[in-house]
Amino acid sequence: MKDLKIAINVDDLTVAYNYKPVLWDIDLAIPEGVLMAIVGPNGAGKSTLIKAILGIIDPIAGSVSIFGKPYEKQRKLVAYVPQKGSVDWDFPTTAFDVVLMGTYGKLGWIKRPKQAEKKAALEALEKVGMLAFKNRQISQLSGGQQQRIFLARALVQDASIYFMDEPFQGVDATTEIAIINILKSLRKEGKTVVVVHHDLQTVPEYFDWVTFLNVKKIATGPVKDIFNDDNLTKTYGINYKVAVNK
Ligand code: ADP
Repeated sequence: MKDLKIAINVDDLTVAYNYKPVLWDIDLAIPEGVLMAIVGPNGAGKSTLIKAILGIIDPIAGSVSIFGKPYEKQRKLVAYVPQKGSVDWDFPTTAFDVVLMGTYGKLGWIKRPKQAEKKAALEALEKVGMLAFKNRQISQLSGGQQQRIFLARALVQDASIYFMDEPFQGVDATTEIAIINILKSLRKEGKTVVVVHHDLQTVPEYFDWVTFLNVKKIATGPVKDIFNDDNLTKTYGINYKVAVNK
């Protein structure tokens, strides 16, 4: 394999809640330009891993770097779409404004968005098929539509690395296809995309890289090499092939 530039490096990372470790001694080197799924059972630490990489949670040991530097120095290179359930959708703001907020990181707090930012927000709404809803209050959109808006907000950030926590949760088939096509086009542009994913059936079709996680890292690498029964069984603690064929 040719030398791959590492976008995200995780070194000996251990995270605990109330002294109970939920991630144990994780080492990961995620190459630039992959579309990677993180898979593992509920409570495996998938969301926690993303939050620790983004500095939202402090680890008790280990470190993380983004293109060789601490996250704090690389903030502008990173976009994050959190889990849908973790967002308060009741605030009174339009879909357009939520997307426009994605440009604030680049602008800094003093400057106000101008024509260029507004144009970028409209283009992102168009990309996710939500232009017709731009003036709709965010609370008056369906779950899948809200998810598209959050994706548009990440797109205007024009980041190098995208983290998405279960972007397909509760969306219909059309939205799922729209989202995966956008993620694939980000990969085509050379961006690195990391997705917490639950549907094991779609992993080979959607992703080229995968990390198996269950408190410990079970395996990480190209889907074609490591997405197999052995790793599925080690991660889910059941004989996966038997379980899905039932
Ligand atoms: P996953 O995303 O794989 O479902 P999480 O990262 O959300 O797993 O959670 C990993 C473990 O940490 C779970 O056992 C969960 O109950 C626990 N956990 C998550 N967040 C907190 C928290 N804020 N306080 C205490 N325990 C938590």
